[in-house]
Amino acid sequence: MSAAAAQALSMGPFLRIENISKRYEGTDTPAVDDVSLDIARGEFFSLLGASGSGKTTLLRILAGFERPDSGHVFIDGRDVTDLPPYERPVNMMFQSYALFPHMSVADNVAFGLKQDGMAKPERTARVAELLDLVHLGNKAKRKPHQLSGGERQRVALARALAKHPKLLLLDEPLGALDRKLRESTQFELKALQARLGITFVMVTHDQDEAMTLSSRLAVMDQGRVQQVGPPNEVYETPATRHVAEFLGAANLLDATVTDWGNGMATLACDGFPGSFKATAPAALAPAARVAVAIRPEKIRLCEAGAAADNKLQGTVKDIAYIGDVSTYSILLDGQRSLRVQSTNAKRGSLMPTEGAALWLSWDAADAVVIAE
Ligand code: ADP
Ligand code: MG
Repeated sequence: MSAAAAQALSMGPFLRIENISKRYEGTDTPAVDDVSLDIARGEFFSLLGASGSGKTTLLRILAGFERPDSGHVFIDGRDVTDLPPYERPVNMMFQSYALFPHMSVADNVAFGLKQDGMAKPERTARVAELLDLVHLGNKAKRKPHQLSGGERQRVALARALAKHPKLLLLDEPLGALDRKLRESTQFELKALQARLGITFVMVTHDQDEAMTLSSRLAVMDQGRVQQVGPPNEVYETPATRHVAEFLGAANLLDATVTDWGNGMATLACDGFPGSFKATAPAALAPAARVAVAIRPEKIRLCEAGAAADNKLQGTVKDIAYIGDVSTYSILLDGQRSLRVQSTNAKRGSLMPTEGAALWLSWDAADAVVIAE
């Protein structure tokens, strides 16, 4: 979180989600299960999770399109749980954009303003301002089908911003765009949010998108929030196996604690000789069963004699050369393998070949204990 966001949150959250649960009629598991979150004014907050994890349901509850079975939503200190959508200082940008196909770009953006009875001159000025904001000033008269996917996305964004919402909810806003366009649009969206200072809550299943855009993110699984934090914190210190595997790639080794002190655990990893060291901020009792998470980019390929906190021997099973990086699958003991990623920083540098025997090492500081 930025220092500004941290300060804003310390003064009380702008959006408070308090013990929200929702089960759809005819289903036996809740879509949203006791979720509580505090979001500061001006944050770009993401709900990240696989399809079906409850993200859209939670967003629709914030917008007022869905009623929670229990819990409360507060916006700017006011309980809005029982307010209809149009009485909330909120707008939502839908996954499909839901533009009116027969209306021009300008009329799409003007739609809500017209419904509210805003006078024509004022409306025209506001629409022009919004279209400038999303760089579509010269396409005001086009129909949605005459626009590219990225442009349609920007019309939907302009329309969602028309009524000066205090909170903008975005459901997979870049989902319909191809990869290259998505990356450039991500930066535009982030710049726009920073410029407007509006609080954004975005839903996405795309971890890169959530990492790139968010001041903080919440990882959701089966209707529950598994972990909340700034992207780097969640990536570097995953709280659960699910988070470790969902956010980036992780090697997970099952282990038993043999000792703990000063934030460092000594471990016996199932099936591997010797002892291992890993970061563990919270105290662990001897004999506790845990998992150790090691990110592929934190593992080095090394010589037999190299000194290291943690070492394992293996053979190269697969190599994926992607250009900037290579990913290796290193077979350890005939069945298990570790994923290792290294940067190809030097042209023509020597790379391990398939079948080569080698050693892997990693620092205790770069391995994290997950105590579940
Ligand atoms: P996400 O947006 O993360 O993909 P959703 O919030 O859409 O997840 O869905 C969460 C769960 O609720 C899923 O199991 C989904 O099938 C179920 N669900 C969503 N909408 C409805 C509905 N209108 N009726 C019944 N079940 C629903
Ligand atoms: Mg969804």
